[in-house]
Amino acid sequence: MARITHLLDAGPTLSFEFSAPRDEAGAERLRQTLARLSQHRPQFMSVTYGAGGTTRGPTRDWVSAIRDEYGPLGVSEMPHLTCVAHTPDEVAQIIDEYRQDGIENILALRGDQPQSNSQLPHSGRLPAFETAAQLVQYIRKRADWDIGVAAHPEGHPMAASVEADLAHQTRKLAQADFAITQFGYRAEYYEQFVNQLDARGVDTPVIAGIMPPTNVAGIERMSALNATEFPTEVRERLERASSPAERREIGVEVASRLGRELLELGAPGLHIYTMNFARAASEVASALGWKADQT
Ligand code: FAD
Repeated sequence: MARITHLLDAGPTLSFEFSAPRDEAGAERLRQTLARLSQHRPQFMSVTYGAGGTTRGPTRDWVSAIRDEYGPLGVSEMPHLTCVAHTPDEVAQIIDEYRQDGIENILALRGDQPQSNSQLPHSGRLPAFETAAQLVQYIRKRADWDIGVAAHPEGHPMAASVEADLAHQTRKLAQADFAITQFGYRAEYYEQFVNQLDARGVDTPVIAGIMPPTNVAGIERMSALNATEFPTEVRERLERASSPAERREIGVEVASRLGRELLELGAPGLHIYTMNFARAASEVASALGWKADQT
């Protein structure tokens, strides 16, 4: 496994994000997706962490599966970890487990508070972490890892104000080794965000997150949740499409153009949100020059 900061130094990097599936059918699809996307030789693959710690075991298992299967091909693995529903002791245990697994990269997140206490893995005890920045500090003291954080170039939806959000993100990114952005569809938001960090003296590499827009309802829902703009022109093109194949073609074209713009702006890497589907992500990677290696 390689450290993400080293991969970024040699960049630009390509990475893919997956989620632990809920059933065997989903697991089989994810195995096929991993096999196909690994042919693009991404620098790393990451696995999300269910809100409230609900995928603690599965996230670890899938991260290990990626390491065992694709590590020999030069693909590194990275777990996500959210802290909002965990006590410090629980986080310390998780860090120990990952240390045993040989993990060296982690994405440290706050996560969103589960709807009810019954969803909390520690049965309602008050969590001690309120922000991702606190989790970064906690991990830093316990593990010599590369620690990434989430970046929100269009602002976080729960932010008290644009200024407070930017001040928080600046402080958080200053402590991190790298960041990965929420998905978005306008490169200018990325550019503005990186310039604002730069003006505040923060040069932490910011990997750009891309989600190929192939499903109008899904993107609309997630954009509303994340407060990211879903451009009208993209939505209208997708709505006019008459088949899933045509929508995929549009989604791949939009994401590939965005990826090229982001790389031209100096993004040190692209992180593709796959939703555990291979085809659109594979076509975007190919369009951007990361061709699949069939050997
Ligand atoms: P934080 O940085 O702690 O805070 C988010 C916002 O709250 C800040 O931007 C700021 O507006 C405000 N804020 C916090 N503290 C302060 C402060 N002291 N002063 C002022 N404002 C403050 N969620 C999951 O559940 N599982 C995942 O695996 C997952 N992976 C993700 C991967 C990426 C790349 C991204 C971008 C997001 C991911 N998320 C995931 C979503 C994430 O958990 C949510 O966006 C969550 O609401 C915020 O997490 P954060 O780590 O950005 O939080």
